[in-house]
Amino acid sequence: MEAQYKTKDGRLFIKIDAETPKELFKRIASVQEVFEAEAACGCCQSKEIRFQVRTVDKNDYYELKCSCGARFQFGQNKEGGSLFPKRRDEAGAALPNNGWAKYQPMTAPVEPKAAETVVLPAVIAGKTTPNRVTRSS
Ligand SMILES: [Zn+2]
Repeated sequence: MEAQYKTKDGRLFIKIDAETPKELFKRIASVQEVFEAEAACGCCQSKEIRFQVRTVDKNDYYELKCSCGARFQFGQNKEGGSLFPKRRDEAGAALPNNGWAKYQPMTAPVEPKAAETVVLPAVIAGKTTPNRVTRSS
């Protein structure tokens, strides 16, 4: 069987094929979870959000990006290639702004962590460069 599904915001029209009603149900649920995750930015409420995939060290990061610079990340399930909206941190606590965040340059460490550096790349003029603030002396 086949379903044609229009996302809630009307931006996408997705054709979904499935052998059984159960399979169709699962696939529609997956489409809704990912493509209807966010209709507006959690930081500035703008609807000017776009899909973005960043590749860092051969890993792909799936995100929504707002015109204000905020990003919303999707987690990836290890099996099956499915995505899920990331609304909680590693400890299970709810993220602020429903998961949307603007990258804060590490000018001053918030809390010192031993030998652990998080580098979030930014797409600048078509090439991927680290977004970390580096000071040359
Ligand atoms: Zn925004």
